[in-house]
Amino acid sequence: MIVSGSTKIVGIVGYPVAHSVSPQMHNAAFEHLGLDWEYIPFEIHPEDLKKGIDGLRAEGVLGFNVTIPHKEAIIPLLDEVTKLPRLIGAVNTVKNENGKLVGYNTDGAGFVDSLKFDAGVDPKEKNVVLLGAGGAAKAVAVMLAETGAASISITDIDEKKADDLSAHVGSHFNSKICSLKTGSADLAAAISNADIVVNATPIGMHPKENECPIAESSGLRAESIVFDLIYNPPETKLMKLAKEKGAKAVNGLGMLVRQGAISLSIWTDHDAPVDVMLKAAKEALGIK
Ligand code: NAP
Repeated sequence: MIVSGSTKIVGIVGYPVAHSVSPQMHNAAFEHLGLDWEYIPFEIHPEDLKKGIDGLRAEGVLGFNVTIPHKEAIIPLLDEVTKLPRLIGAVNTVKNENGKLVGYNTDGAGFVDSLKFDAGVDPKEKNVVLLGAGGAAKAVAVMLAETGAASISITDIDEKKADDLSAHVGSHFNSKICSLKTGSADLAAAISNADIVVNATPIGMHPKENECPIAESSGLRAESIVFDLIYNPPETKLMKLAKEKGAKAVNGLGMLVRQGAISLSIWTDHDAPVDVMLKAAKEALGIK
């Protein structure tokens, strides 16, 4: 790809960004769509975030993804933030609309799209158990509630985080939302009643790839769907446990790709080629 004066530039802002597979995913999509666009990693130190964003604005960059550690800190630097990222408290996508920087969050929507299209389940009116109440869980919980989940039971080893997320989401949506203690009988009961169990903890990825966020004895049912946000390794202990119980299990690669696909559509107004982006992400991650 040759970058010229007319090439439209988007990218990703983070610190560090070298590990991100978003450049490969998006550039493969631009090539497939025949668009003269280029996606570039912009490594910006937290102390330089304002200067960095001013620079991108001055350069006329058309949009960018935002990753760790800037997803919350970026909010006061933007001109407008849409409703869901405000509720989530994090922005992962910015569009430059004629000089105005508008913030979006596509993580939650990418999760719900992956649930629908990769796991084959619509969370509307479903009972969900959400393991973890950190950054990713916030986007997941808000989007599940926005989509009309019947109930969301949230657990985190840090009980206050689960209580706070449950109270926050519960105050804005009609879903029945509660927090449950990790390892409790109430959590086991919620799991045995769940249509969908979501892992938004790092339990199952390096260095905890041999750990599982729920006990083998928890009543996971064959009818449940387990959605693990982890995609490396592609099959976690939790996913193995689900399969042993006869339940369907999917990893977080679809979510990663679909949040990127939604960002691409926000910037370009084109439908994103999800399969092309998935293939590029797998190649970049070395996943078969
Ligand atoms: P995070 O902010 O650190 O949140 C993880 C939360 O889980 C923390 O509150 C942590 O508590 C809690 N936790 C740890 N062990 C637990 C256990 N056994 N039971 C219940 N809660 C537990 O991390 P994050 O950014 O939300 O990421 C979470 C996971 O999602 C990571 O594996 C990440 O790679 C993945 N992710 C995937 C995608 C995707 O597109 N597929 C996107 C974002 C994130 P402590 O802080 O007290 O340990």
